[in-house]
Amino acid sequence: MRDDASPRVMLITGAGRGIGAATARMAAKRGYAVAVNYRSDRASADGVVGDIEAAGGRAIAIQADVADEAGILSLFETLDHELGRLDVLVNNAGVVDINRRVEDMDVSRVERMMRINVAGPLICAREAIKRMSTRHGGDGGVIINVSSVAARLGGADEYVDYAASKGAIDSLTKGLARELAADGIRVNAVRPGVIRTDIHASADNAGKVDTAGTRIPLGRIGEPEEIADGILWLADAGFCTGSLIDIDGGV
Ligand code: NAP
Repeated sequence: MRDDASPRVMLITGAGRGIGAATARMAAKRGYAVAVNYRSDRASADGVVGDIEAAGGRAIAIQADVADEAGILSLFETLDHELGRLDVLVNNAGVVDINRRVEDMDVSRVERMMRINVAGPLICAREAIKRMSTRHGGDGGVIINVSSVAARLGGADEYVDYAASKGAIDSLTKGLARELAADGIRVNAVRPGVIRTDIHASADNAGKVDTAGTRIPLGRIGEPEEIADGILWLADAGFCTGSLIDIDGGV
């Protein structure tokens, strides 16, 4: 049984930069103690923790690669030890790859994508369920998955593999929402459109943040804080489960 005097705890995977970092900062402002997971960029994760602490909040950085089950187990053990409870899991860590048509994709690319974007969130959800589910003696909680508008649009001529991985996240969200509804856990997803983060540069497509706005009905790309807003809203949306919230400028 958790100590109700202690702050609610949110674990955000891939929170060293981009959407995850914006969510961490916003969650801390709203009173959460935040676990900032990162894979390799310790300085960025420490920077997010430093900003939160400077504003009077509580946060810790935890290294783990969500492509690695042992890493995920160690992430949750550290969380148990350092923060002592879990209320919200945000499955945010994800990768894209350089633009390719499917006939030019090799299996190592597809396996990496599915391991990070699909297996990682599912195994993180498993560990969160063990801690939050009333079926396992927990007090309930929330899982929020970061999908993508690509799940709906398909990613043709860019990255159909990425779109398929996010389609799997939508199915995971729907299925888990129904599986866990009676166990005190709500499961929802946000589906961002193009957002101003470094993910595009990691796919050799840094210019996308300058050009994509013209193809978006609202005439601009989104900011990470606009996705964080949706995530924080879902964390408290008591009658939402299995919801996929598009935050995409109208595409
Ligand atoms: P980003 O700027 O590239 O940041 C990704 C973060 O995830 C980094 O902190 C990175 O950590 C971490 N990460 C990557 N692989 C990881 C792994 N295997 N294990 C743990 N952490 C890992 O990405 P973003 O744009 O904020 O995207 C966040 C999520 O939103 C992703 O799921 C992405 O698919 C989704 N999304 C983004 C957009 C967009 O336009 N930006 C649109 C739709 C959906 P290190 O730096 O330490 O490696």
